[in-house]
Amino acid sequence: MEEKRTIGYICPKCGAAVIAERSAFALSAGTAAVICDCGKSKLVLDYDGDTFHVTVPCGICGGEHTARVDAKAILTGRGVALTCPETRQYCCLMGEDGRVSAGMRELAITADKIKAREEDPQAFVDNVIMYEILSELKDIAGRGGISCACGCKQYNVEVRPGAVDLICGDCGAKLRLDAATDDDLDRLCCRDRLEIPGKRRD
Ligand SMILES: [Zn+2]
Ligand SMILES: [Zn+2]
Ligand SMILES: [Zn+2]
Repeated sequence: MEEKRTIGYICPKCGAAVIAERSAFALSAGTAAVICDCGKSKLVLDYDGDTFHVTVPCGICGGEHTARVDAKAILTGRGVALTCPETRQYCCLMGEDGRVSAGMRELAITADKIKAREEDPQAFVDNVIMYEILSELKDIAGRGGISCACGCKQYNVEVRPGAVDLICGDCGAKLRLDAATDDDLDRLCCRDRLEIPGKRRD
């Protein structure tokens, strides 16, 4: 059976979530494109036999971004998310259908929130970061990446203004994650695992 990959982005012209399926075979044959129904934006994937050169119309900042992505990341596994360098938000997802579809639903919400923020710059600043931090945490938790040094894998999440606390369900140790600025989000995004600093048992 041929492997299908799903590609999604937000059209900067009409605001629609554009989602398309391509076979891994078609993607690795050369150049592939995904065009929005409105006809005004186009995502292009160029494969040079080793790396994909991706051109993404960005529904978050309204610009266009280019990225080089390892072929394996696009053709196999869960997939990849590309980040808008202007806003540090995801703007394009490629990979497994279920993950991309779920991610695109969140992405559409983020795009709406950012539009609302442009209209009312005061209202959403921290909310967007908090929202992104929580969904990033959900991701890390989904991979089983959160645990306490004491060996416990149960924990509680407490949301505070500008921070999130992870509290070990066993020993009560606490890991505080700041959740107020883009930098806080960046720091969390590059983490594969989080460890609550409980007492190690030997
Ligand atoms: Zn469109
Ligand atoms: Zn952008
Ligand atoms: Zn613990």
